[in-house]
Amino acid sequence: MSYQVLARKWRPRTFATLVGQEHVVRALTNALESQRLHHAYLLAGTRGVGKTTLARILAKAINCETGITPTPCGKCSACLEIDAGRFVDLIEVDAATNTRVDEMRQLLENAVYVPTRGRFKVYVIDEVHMLSNSAFNAMLKTLEEPPEHIKFILATTEPQKIPVTVLSRCLQFNLKQMPAPAIVAHLERVLKEEGVPAETPALRLVAHAARGSMRDALSLIDQAIAYSGGHVTEASVRAMLGTVDTGFLFDLLDAVARRDAAATLAVADAMETRSLSFDDGLAELARILHRVALAQAAPEALPEDAPERERVTALAGVLDPEDVQLYYQIALNAREDLALAPDEYTGFTMALMRMYAFAPETVGGTPPAIPAGRQGNVEPTQAPDSRFDWPAVARALKLTGAAKQLAERSELVAFDGDSLEVAVPPESRALADKGYVEKLKAALADHLGRPVRVTVRIAAAVNGRTAAGVAEGERRARDEQASAQIGADPLVRELVAGFDATIESVKPVE
Ligand SMILES: [Zn+2]
Repeated sequence: MSYQVLARKWRPRTFATLVGQEHVVRALTNALESQRLHHAYLLAGTRGVGKTTLARILAKAINCETGITPTPCGKCSACLEIDAGRFVDLIEVDAATNTRVDEMRQLLENAVYVPTRGRFKVYVIDEVHMLSNSAFNAMLKTLEEPPEHIKFILATTEPQKIPVTVLSRCLQFNLKQMPAPAIVAHLERVLKEEGVPAETPALRLVAHAARGSMRDALSLIDQAIAYSGGHVTEASVRAMLGTVDTGFLFDLLDAVARRDAAATLAVADAMETRSLSFDDGLAELARILHRVALAQAAPEALPEDAPERERVTALAGVLDPEDVQLYYQIALNAREDLALAPDEYTGFTMALMRMYAFAPETVGGTPPAIPAGRQGNVEPTQAPDSRFDWPAVARALKLTGAAKQLAERSELVAFDGDSLEVAVPPESRALADKGYVEKLKAALADHLGRPVRVTVRIAAAVNGRTAAGVAEGERRARDEQASAQIGADPLVRELVAGFDATIESVKPVE
């Protein structure tokens, strides 16, 4: 009984079966059909995109006994031997292990001999950027006056590290990372052929984890088949990859959108209970926010079969596009900070709280410091020009999203007519982003009718006066006034007295 791993078994043997590199295949097919052969090819692309696979197919295409063809027969001894990896005129070298100049020189000295079996002697040099300078020089001599019977196929993940003198003598092809839907489609075909039942969402998870590499995707599927006992289910792949159920993360974002901090923390606790990876959680959160941003900017770009399309669309409808950008940034930064956090749970929940800290209407939240607007005209402690009412100006500026939050959550440090200096508390430092400051600057210039320099500092409570604080104070004052009015209403008093009722909440009609 022999089991061949899927990645090897399903390695493409013809241009037609090479998934996702159509642009390269088309160019090579045209060249082969018109018998226009270059003597050196450079295949560039990240790992696992099929560089060496393509090199082998190309080697067959030029050595097939039926003639130079974009569709090698796959049956002649040249094709069969190349597929089996034992064709004497196909020399595969891994430059990562053969960088020494004398080895390269010996290799190239042998190049002068005509091929034993094939039409061409084909040198496939993988990770060619790893060659030493002197090895490159040795190769360059051959490239400058290439014997007719020699073809070089160079493969690299880092073409920028190859000397220009070598690059300029190669026909370069850039292989693309495989898009996830292409990987899913291919996996479906493979598993159908193999007679292995699989759930499509499971294949999507594998495609994401493979990050554009079909080889990695097939290896993961091999593992999944073993792990799941022959039925590739979403649950088994999730467990195998340790992937967080995205349901949790949608629940989180729904709670953030509703400004329901308690619900947000409850989801985080549920994740903690299941020992899910918070690092993966943040990565998945960023992925969802990316899809939400896509749905907002270009709904047609969101594929019909995108995972959880409905929930993404729902979030796109309730979240401010600038908030989505901000949350995305927070998720990314939090991943970086996770290693420094006391523990992953703390780092994760802190990131969620940060999303609240920057949100526009923090009901019952923590507007920065000091009782602010409630007492009316608190004199700014440091502002040199107290006639410049920054909170009032901030509220009047035509801004949206994070730039609006920057205006409304910042405190005045100084304003001299030409330049404005404001401060945001450390927990809001993301608002000091250059892009938001530029927007603030433009809106301020618009408002004042002249350009003004704007500096944003990070500092805790300078004077406690922010537009957000003032607005919150006004809201409370309105509530109190409304409560007082309702309490004094004769009908209400009658109800309270007659039915032993109490007034629980009062909401003013805006
Ligand atoms: Zn053949």
